[in-house]
Amino acid sequence: MELLIRNGFVYDPLNGVNGEVMDIGVKNGKIVDPSEVDPLKAKVIDAKGKVVMPGGVDMHTHIAGAKVNAGRVMMPGDHYDSFIKLVKGVHRSGTGKRTPSTFLAGYRYAKMGWTTVAEPASPPLKTRHTHEELNDVPMVDKLCFLLLDSNRILLDYLSQGNLYNFKHALMWFLEASKCYAVKLVDPGVAVPWTWGRGYGMDLDDQIELFGLTPREIVVNFAKVNEELKLPHTIHVHCNKLGIPGNCETTLKTMDAVSGVKSDGLSIHITHIQFNSYLGDSWFNLKSGSEKIADYVNKHSHISLDAGQIDFGTAITMTADAPFEFALYHLARWKWAGAEVENECAAGIVPFKYKKRNMVNTVQWCIGLEVMLIVKDPWRVILSTDHPNGAPFTRYPKFIALLMSKKYREEIMKKLSKKGLKSSVLPAVEREYTLYEIVITTRAAPAKLLGIHEFKGHLGVGADADVAIYDLNPEEMDFSKDYVKVKEAFSKALYTIKGGEIVVKDGEVVKEVFGETIAVKFKERPDPEVVKDMEAKFREYYTVSFSNYVIRDEEIRKLKYMVCG
Ligand SMILES: [Zn+2]
Repeated sequence: MELLIRNGFVYDPLNGVNGEVMDIGVKNGKIVDPSEVDPLKAKVIDAKGKVVMPGGVDMHTHIAGAKVNAGRVMMPGDHYDSFIKLVKGVHRSGTGKRTPSTFLAGYRYAKMGWTTVAEPASPPLKTRHTHEELNDVPMVDKLCFLLLDSNRILLDYLSQGNLYNFKHALMWFLEASKCYAVKLVDPGVAVPWTWGRGYGMDLDDQIELFGLTPREIVVNFAKVNEELKLPHTIHVHCNKLGIPGNCETTLKTMDAVSGVKSDGLSIHITHIQFNSYLGDSWFNLKSGSEKIADYVNKHSHISLDAGQIDFGTAITMTADAPFEFALYHLARWKWAGAEVENECAAGIVPFKYKKRNMVNTVQWCIGLEVMLIVKDPWRVILSTDHPNGAPFTRYPKFIALLMSKKYREEIMKKLSKKGLKSSVLPAVEREYTLYEIVITTRAAPAKLLGIHEFKGHLGVGADADVAIYDLNPEEMDFSKDYVKVKEAFSKALYTIKGGEIVVKDGEVVKEVFGETIAVKFKERPDPEVVKDMEAKFREYYTVSFSNYVIRDEEIRKLKYMVCG
């Protein structure tokens, strides 16, 4: 199929294109020079007076796997809140607002113009399930991050100071689970949680059994990640998440890896909002966003995503079991806990964020504050840590909020006054430009993930993932017309995935399946280390070593990124 997108205002920050009126050519699933497309044969889209940009890239969204499935079971009402009906020959049905069914998650992303997503937390042992669900998610390309911070085999090697075995075992785990990046969640915490301990573990606390600290875990993972030339840095949920005063722990964690690389990024701190709290109790909680942003503005080795919350019911789910247990006692509603042998422990707690609640107001402000105070939009990404802070379907709202101080003021009128006094958002003047929005939702996440050669831009050779929105930068004032901005990003005029029109006027018109991108290493895992791991498996695991490995043919459409 050939497409010619004519006369749109094109926003393509990776190629320095800022709203220029131009044509985009599409052929065989790739972006080509428009002169290569035959206008008589091609489908021509008139984009005059509309904006054209690369498909959205979500680098942190929990849409698949065991914990998402448990979330679906825990919130039966969620299935009635929101659903779509089957349209024969076009798309399937689906339900769920906060934890949508697999198909629906894909359709919803496509309706908004998003075309690539990363599921950011899968325990190796449960990753077969994660991939089975990702196989079902249509319309988007997918990546999966592997939870490794409390992995007993890796911690064994680390506690022996055997970094060689640690590195080769890490390669083996990533390849065996067809994953893309390393995820650390409250580093080390699943070990003390085995004995019901670990709540509030700080960066320099000792981890029983291994004689290690979270600091040693983070630093060594960062070093080996760098040595292996993985396309994405370590992706870290810091210690003490969700606990007042945790801002200091976050700053220490950022600083701990400052020497890992002389130049460039060495850590991505995820859902920073949950880790930016000052004060020592819920009663004197204050926003720590200025401290976090100040550190990020002065140091180039860190990237962040927001973890923005929104008001209403969310479902929190994380491999930070002690935190979820504590949150359950605050929320007093529902809780599910799960442990994965030798690997991690997780919890799921539905939670209601309330406008008049002081703490929830501070949380709401922090996400936006960090995004607005960090100067470099290439290192701060819009996320809601779906479904922890809010469903990903709120992105259009947060895009509008980033672009409009007036809209922020409208919402702040309804929030807790004490909460606003403990925040800095009321004093923040900055408004994102559309170019900056395209950076934070497309170009920058693609670059941080290391997929920017073929994703997140509209240059010749890129995958033809394109979104067209009903926005006219010459006629609209985005700061004032925030309602229109929100509407436009909620319903893409066109979403083009791999060169095919899959959404028109905000409705799915065709179902396609994207690729799952996984890493593979040029260097092979040392057979001696693998043999040693096999012996450990017999000792530690209830599953056999060979059953653990996910085969290539278990993934619907597998694409390897070769590292090293
Ligand atoms: Zn998350």
